[in-house]
Amino acid sequence: MIKSKLDNSLDVTSTSLFFNRIKKLKSTKHKNIALRVWNGDIMSRNRLVHMGLAENDLCLHCGEVETQIHVVRDCERAQRIWTNIVHGDNSINLSSLIKEDWHGLCDADFELRMECLWHLLNNKELSSEAIIRRSKKYLEQLRNFQRNGYGDININLIL
Ligand SMILES: [Zn+2]
Repeated sequence: MIKSKLDNSLDVTSTSLFFNRIKKLKSTKHKNIALRVWNGDIMSRNRLVHMGLAENDLCLHCGEVETQIHVVRDCERAQRIWTNIVHGDNSINLSSLIKEDWHGLCDADFELRMECLWHLLNNKELSSEAIIRRSKKYLEQLRNFQRNGYGDININLIL
């Protein structure tokens, strides 16, 4: 069993669940993002500063230091996405909830989570609402395309 380099507190059960979900993903993009996050391959601002590629390490959304786990779990932007997926609500008071994790507990929403993760990593400026909206729309289109045998789709077609 390969331990997550992003979060080494994940136990054997969560790890094997995670890999079973990756196997079921249809899109290469989603498999890729799942493995990148698992391996701690996220260009967070604290890493970019270390490489001399960013001026400061502060998160654009909340002003805290942007580490890898901050991008996908600890930032309010990420929490808004994960709580929305679990509770279907954007306006919940986050401080009253236990933190949701990026990998989730349910097979059914895993593909949506991976699409949202892709935005969290690649669209640093997008709000949580925009990420949820675009991700749902993208998956809807992806399923249509796959049903019709076209394979993957170009994100530019739906923006
Ligand atoms: Zn933040």
